[in-house]
Amino acid sequence: MKITLRTDVLTNNNKAAEFNRELFQNTKTLVINLMSSPGAGKTTLLEETVRELSGKYRIAVIEGDLATERDADRIRAMGAKAVQINTHGGCHLDARMVAATLTEFDLDEIDLLFIENVGNLVCPSGYDLGQHHKVAVLSVPEGNDKIPKYPQMFMRTELVLLNKIDLLPYLDFSVEEARKDLTEINPESILFSLSARTQEGMHEWFSWIEGAYLQCVQQ
Ligand code: MG
Ligand code: ZN
Repeated sequence: MKITLRTDVLTNNNKAAEFNRELFQNTKTLVINLMSSPGAGKTTLLEETVRELSGKYRIAVIEGDLATERDADRIRAMGAKAVQINTHGGCHLDARMVAATLTEFDLDEIDLLFIENVGNLVCPSGYDLGQHHKVAVLSVPEGNDKIPKYPQMFMRTELVLLNKIDLLPYLDFSVEEARKDLTEINPESILFSLSARTQEGMHEWFSWIEGAYLQCVQQ
């Protein structure tokens, strides 16, 4: 599908989000907006996700960072198509940046599109990119206070991936407390404990993606 952008799409975030959403739906592309603070392990998680699921799905990734192509290069090395957006100081992705990037993809040839947002627990959650799902990654070294301190992020995400659980024996992080804090802020939200590095718990995330994909193509 060849994409042409209208002027209003490039000037208004919500119009751009609607434009993206329609396109994702028409092409049956499941889109996941992945958010976290810097260093929580989004890119490693995506590398392992591409490794596991690329035999079954056609996967592409949009990488958001202030500078460099490093994350896109890491995804390309795993064999998936990746396009890097550099925000040049901007602290989040908006739907217009994503819309402008979509001209580089043939969405008819993509089943799963992951958008790795700029590492930041504050404003990325406030921008609708037209995605199907917003997912937050939280990592054990960040500590238990991130969920209560950044409630907007966890209010607006339906799934939290607690990453780096291989470090639990070395750090004072309570998974139970994290679950309790999350339930208080967002009773609907689910939390999977995993480690992208050791693979522990990753199957829950993979099955969640498969379920979300089925739901997306059946709509
Ligand atoms: Mg990254
Ligand atoms: Zn921002």
